[in-house]
Amino acid sequence: MLGGKETLEHLWTPWRMEYILSEKPRECPFCRAVEAGDDRACHIVYRGEHCFVILNKYPYNNGHLMILPYRHVAELHEMTPEERREMMELLELCVRVLRQSSRPDGFNVGLNLGEAAGAGVQCHIHVHVVPRWHGDTNYMTVVNGVRVIPELLDETWERLKPVFDALTSQH
Ligand SMILES: [Zn+2]
Repeated sequence: MLGGKETLEHLWTPWRMEYILSEKPRECPFCRAVEAGDDRACHIVYRGEHCFVILNKYPYNNGHLMILPYRHVAELHEMTPEERREMMELLELCVRVLRQSSRPDGFNVGLNLGEAAGAGVQCHIHVHVVPRWHGDTNYMTVVNGVRVIPELLDETWERLKPVFDALTSQH
């Protein structure tokens, strides 16, 4: 049963499907950010050897970070041991940076694997690091189901980038 315009297009232009599959990593917002080379504009706050840290474009809270391998892989088992190791090291770094810069009362850290788990971008694995403050769910305004974040992403980048730089230049 044909579900809509997209289904028809795929049926009638099978070469387009092949094109879509081969171009997927370029359509990935995380791969695009890494390749763009403008970390300020793309809100990348730290580049490690195998993994990097980027601000979440739709943050749950100010300072919502994500840690990802440079390689476009979806699953934990597709990551190399080096990538997994550095991901954990960067998790510790992110928590330290946020503690120093934002004095949160706690953190939510996690992986959403698969659509059913709520992953927005399923094709490129990422760990969420969300700073939490007592009562933060109370003071955030909700408009059209989206929580309004008082601080803009550019400002968050300007605030966090120097802390990442300072903490990583010490060792
Ligand atoms: Zn990707």
